[in-house]
Amino acid sequence: MKAREETPVAKPDQAPKTAITPTRSADYAEWYQQVVRAADLAENSPVRGCMVIKPWGYAIWENIQRELDRMFKATGHKNAYFPLFIPKSFLEKEAEHVEGFAKECAVVTHHRLVAGKDGGLVPDPEAKLEEELVVRPTSETIIGASFASWVQSYRDLPLLINQWANVVRWELRTRLFLRTAEFLWQEGHTAHASADEAVAETMQMLSVYATFAEEFMAMPVLRGKKTDGERFPGAVDTFCIEAMMQDRKALQAGTSHFLGQNFAKASGITFQTKDEKREHAWTTSWGVSTRLVGGLIMTHADDDGLVLPPRLAPAHAVLLPVYRGDDTREKVDAYIDALAKDLRAQRLFGRDVEVEIDRRDIRGGDKMWEWVKKGVPLRIEVGPRDVEGGVAMVARRDRGTKEKASMTRADLVGGIVGILEDMQKGLYAKARKERDDNARPIDTRPEFDAFFTAKNDKEIHGGFALSHWCGDAKCEASVKEALKVTIRCIPLGGAEGAPWESKLRDDGPCIVCGKSAKGRVVFAKAY
Ligand SMILES: [Zn+2]
Repeated sequence: MKAREETPVAKPDQAPKTAITPTRSADYAEWYQQVVRAADLAENSPVRGCMVIKPWGYAIWENIQRELDRMFKATGHKNAYFPLFIPKSFLEKEAEHVEGFAKECAVVTHHRLVAGKDGGLVPDPEAKLEEELVVRPTSETIIGASFASWVQSYRDLPLLINQWANVVRWELRTRLFLRTAEFLWQEGHTAHASADEAVAETMQMLSVYATFAEEFMAMPVLRGKKTDGERFPGAVDTFCIEAMMQDRKALQAGTSHFLGQNFAKASGITFQTKDEKREHAWTTSWGVSTRLVGGLIMTHADDDGLVLPPRLAPAHAVLLPVYRGDDTREKVDAYIDALAKDLRAQRLFGRDVEVEIDRRDIRGGDKMWEWVKKGVPLRIEVGPRDVEGGVAMVARRDRGTKEKASMTRADLVGGIVGILEDMQKGLYAKARKERDDNARPIDTRPEFDAFFTAKNDKEIHGGFALSHWCGDAKCEASVKEALKVTIRCIPLGGAEGAPWESKLRDDGPCIVCGKSAKGRVVFAKAY
């Protein structure tokens, strides 16, 4: 591939150094919002805290959904659908659970509107619900009610169900994809005859999430267990995958909960054992949400916009015709159509290669930048001279925006799958290095404090501090209070090959109180 310098795209006096302002280093939080906007992924809605997911953003979610759905089905799960509304009394059945979710529940109190005094509509006082309904913040309790009737005997177990749905958690401070009052997700719910089986299921799904994050999102994750203070309300154990974003904060990207018999007792899920005794089932739940799209952006996007790993990109390549007058238009169009057909016949990661053709009548430079910002992996330009030469100009989103290379048509068609696979691997390797470089064992409190204290409000600082913790909730709480740093997980895997991996298992004094502790935990600031 021969590199060729691209001609400047903007007028010289306003040539942007980067397509996104501010840059990551200038203002990370604002950069994130600008990337979401520039890539046309989502926007705020008239309903505060709720987002409108636009086609390019929704197509990414659909790709996430499709792959996860395949993985869930391959591990024996079936999809079902349960009501959006949960009777308030259901939520009250599990004490810790209700306490965990009560403060962010949307509640339906009436079932009819009538004309009010000043012409508007008001809830009809005559139509007050006998029992208020909660818009599901999660579905353990309503699914538990169904499970109670579906499960009678050990022969009905295991019961392996997944639901794709929306949930509502009334958040006051929201951010597109990362934290919204309503979000899309999947929630798996399973019931088993023994604790061992339920624990094995919990770990299996954690592993499915980790595989998905690393192989599809190209996002390295640590697998671990949550502390008691951070676990899901009502769970016995919560396991998670934690990723590091480019601002070095942690993002909890998926959770898998071993619920013991807590929810089975609350919902009355019992079964007859082989020796004809009646026992409560053991249950699990696990979920990932549209938050993954936020994680994808914050792992790979750069100062020119979104960068998409090919496995989840809605389109792998965009074909950009460059017309030089009407007499060449027909020739360029015919060449592009034939090229698109050949590219689409290639298979990548179990999908056909997906190609868009952008024939819109707008300036070539503007068009090019639009696709850079949307993060499409390959931009392929074809002008009259390329048609003559049987070539195309190819630019990769993981390289500089000015870098492009001429490829023969045959090389491009035969090589596109290899290029995309190379990009997928490269994005993972880059993110992995970034994470490993910004995680480190820390053994003294002054170093710990300095690690998590920015020199100024613009500095990107911190990372994963791998430190000892005695297990006392008071030590955990004091660090959260002092530095807004939480224990992300007690690591179980995902660090293989990292320079600090062996340090995770050594013993030492608690970073807070000095009492001796076994192994290290991961401390970080988090989304
Ligand atoms: Zn301690």
